[in-house]
Amino acid sequence: CGIVGILGKSSVSTNLVDALRRLEYRGYDSAGIATVEDGAIDRRRAEGKLRNLEKRLISEPLAGRTGIGHTRWATHGRPTERNAHPHMTAKVSVVHNGIIENFRELRARLEAKGHKFETDTDTEAVVHLITDEMDQGAEPVAAVRSALKHLEGAFALGIIFAGQDDLMIAARKGSPLAIGHGSGEMYLGSDAIALAPFTDAITYLEEGDWAVLHRSGAEIFNLDGERVERPVVKAVASA
Ligand code: GLU
Repeated sequence: CGIVGILGKSSVSTNLVDALRRLEYRGYDSAGIATVEDGAIDRRRAEGKLRNLEKRLISEPLAGRTGIGHTRWATHGRPTERNAHPHMTAKVSVVHNGIIENFRELRARLEAKGHKFETDTDTEAVVHLITDEMDQGAEPVAAVRSALKHLEGAFALGIIFAGQDDLMIAARKGSPLAIGHGSGEMYLGSDAIALAPFTDAITYLEEGDWAVLHRSGAEIFNLDGERVERPVVKAVASA
């Protein structure tokens, strides 16, 4: 339901939760964040309100300057901690808004190749699809580019990778997504409102766009993999 992402200069977990709080008005049943620390992805998730996630983070803090967060409104799979986003393998972690219509077929194909699924969500098919490309030697950007070609349905995605402290990939088809430009930091949000405390310099992704974010800036591509230019605009001031 809500997506945020931060490539920060220091630990991002508090800011991720603060950004998610600005999306609470949309409603959600669970929440979670994932970061890259010392090359490995780790995450914390909780059923119910963001308060529950915050409590978890107090007893089990999550360090890392690169992270994604999600508030979930379950469409496939009950609203449990196990089904809460971010979903992950050892190589990649994903937050997703929307529905992957062909997830059953993708899951069957990936399970037949030996991928072990842990949740009942449509989203987990995206995680294993990207992991499968990487298992075959693809770099993160190439892995996402080919995975996107197989996805049917509506999605906004935020993706981080093990061993990649300065990389986040975003993709949008049928679900809004905005990039926020900070100074030496980059942000991602399903709504610019989430990013208001950090920056008002926003690039709205257009239908079919996907973007490669580094702290130094964003490169945006269309579904054919061609580089496209999207303007940086000033977000309308919000409460
Ligand atoms: N379809 C996904 C799920 O059920 C994402 C739902 C959402 O947009 O929050 O986990």
